[in-house]
Amino acid sequence: MNERHVGAPGQVKEVTSLANPLIKDIKALALKKFRDQQNAFMAEGLKLVIDALDLGWQVRTLVFAKAGRGNPAVEKVAARTVAAGGTVLEVSEKVLVAITRRDNPQMVVGVFSQRFLALKDIRADNGDVWVALDRVRDPGNLGTVIRTVDAVGAKGVILVGDTTDPFSVETVRASMGSIFSVPVAKATTEAFLAWRGGFSGLVAGTHLKGAVDYRSVDFSRGPVLLMMGNEQQGLVESLAASCDRLLRIPQAGRADSLNLAVATGIMLFEIRRGALKLEPIADQQ
Ligand code: SAM
Repeated sequence: MNERHVGAPGQVKEVTSLANPLIKDIKALALKKFRDQQNAFMAEGLKLVIDALDLGWQVRTLVFAKAGRGNPAVEKVAARTVAAGGTVLEVSEKVLVAITRRDNPQMVVGVFSQRFLALKDIRADNGDVWVALDRVRDPGNLGTVIRTVDAVGAKGVILVGDTTDPFSVETVRASMGSIFSVPVAKATTEAFLAWRGGFSGLVAGTHLKGAVDYRSVDFSRGPVLLMMGNEQQGLVESLAASCDRLLRIPQAGRADSLNLAVATGIMLFEIRRGALKLEPIADQQ
């Protein structure tokens, strides 16, 4: 392993061997067991890593492809990583392919510490919207929900019960970087129900047997907690019973239900309808 300087107060280690222990640890992050052991996760892409840094996250290990050497943006991220006490690895294409398990990997990968918000720290003020997901299974759905929560300016996501990992590679990919700006909490169903007891706003569940059209509700008063059901089973009975309203999105055609992330998107844009305004698009010329 060679070391060289990067115009930063630290060093870059050059790694070409898959047997390198640092690389082995990063590769292991593909599995939840090792993500939890290391309390870490991996995010791919230069823009994503820059956004994370700008949002106050620290890169534990920055990995970049040899092709990134001399790229000012990559060098800057490397310098920021080293300045914050992180490790920077310049790796061969083969190593990057192995880490990301992709044939055409991004030039940059960052390893970050996982962060969960504690339920007790959630304060819901007027206008705030939180989304609770009951036992979400699909990483793509979870990532898409996190991205949509970000896009509408909702406050965060609460994972209830046994759920897919918000820090899996697939979820982080699907969130398109929103994992860094959307707080995520997790709770058992019992702990969530206890917390819900103290929630002062409207608790709106979505349910295929909901009696109320989601477009008929006034979401403008107080905070809103939107509850979404599991992909296969919908909302478990105890959660459904804890909702103030059970709402339904009318459907035509033969589909039994909407995809979870699509239904969440429809609900969030309705709930946040009054808060969202089109900004004029900046003149590109
Ligand atoms: N077989 C499941 C069931 O019986 O509920 C389907 C669940 S659906 C794929 C996942 C979640 O998306 C539902 O639990 C609900 O929260 C929401 N959802 C999907 N379509 C909906 C609709 N038309 N109205 C209200 N919620 C819907």
